[in-house]
Amino acid sequence: MVVAAKKSLGQNFLKDASILKKIIDAAEISPTDTILEIGPGKAALTTELLKVAGEVIAVELDQRLIPLLRVEFCHHRNFKLVHGDALKFTPPSTPYKIVANIPYYITSPLLNHFLLEQFQSGNPPEMIVFMVQKEVADKIIAKREKDSVLSMEVKIFGEPEIVTYVPKEAFEPRPKVDSAVIKIRVYDKPKFTGDLKKLIWLMHISFSQKRKKLVNNLEGPLKINKDEIRKILTSCEINTDVRAEDLTLEEWQKLFNELHSNPHSF
Ligand code: SAM
Repeated sequence: MVVAAKKSLGQNFLKDASILKKIIDAAEISPTDTILEIGPGKAALTTELLKVAGEVIAVELDQRLIPLLRVEFCHHRNFKLVHGDALKFTPPSTPYKIVANIPYYITSPLLNHFLLEQFQSGNPPEMIVFMVQKEVADKIIAKREKDSVLSMEVKIFGEPEIVTYVPKEAFEPRPKVDSAVIKIRVYDKPKFTGDLKKLIWLMHISFSQKRKKLVNNLEGPLKINKDEIRKILTSCEINTDVRAEDLTLEEWQKLFNELHSNPHSF
């Protein structure tokens, strides 16, 4: 296909067959699986997906690629092409996996749309396997790094792992950054009980200034003073000098419950 890559749409096309194979293997695709591919681009991954999946639904934003993709796959009954923005796409109500080499500038909104929002409407994917910027992958996994809103948000909904790191040379045109394929095995139920949007809001305010203690970050946005916040932390058996990045998921749950039962805080 002769279409110039658009930087504004994050178009770095994958050309390394060994990476394509690793993505396909990681997704553990069976002939009955429905795969949602975000941004098929010039179809390198789509071609491989169609060999192993029961159905491939591909959502592409770039109008220029639509006729080319239609022609290329017109004989595939198991291929469905949607022209539109993946962030506005309502996924199928039957089980599906997301497998994609995504434009990096929509990584967080995509996770938000397909994890938080789809869990709320009862329609999350079974698994996500996608390419992200290497630094973002490390942040999500948070092995060497401390936790962040992004890593906590992913951990609530699934178990992330790095499949492989990917050098710039695997793409055409070459991006400025290295990449990584990550796999998220999505849980049946989130590892949190309560209003998920409120929890994410609480995490955002708690992490707003990473170096600050949790008490200081919470004081302004919550309508209670520092002493009350310290009391709440103590009743949750959380150290009052703690930073947001030190809290475990269980501690977030306790803190959320305690704040929620305080009529003045949320
Ligand atoms: N899958 C192809 C590959 O591996 O070579 C292309 C990957 S390229 C990194 C990202 C693709 O996502 C591009 O085709 C781009 O046009 C498309 N895209 C960008 N923003 C999108 C959006 N919001 N919704 C759907 N597709 C989008």
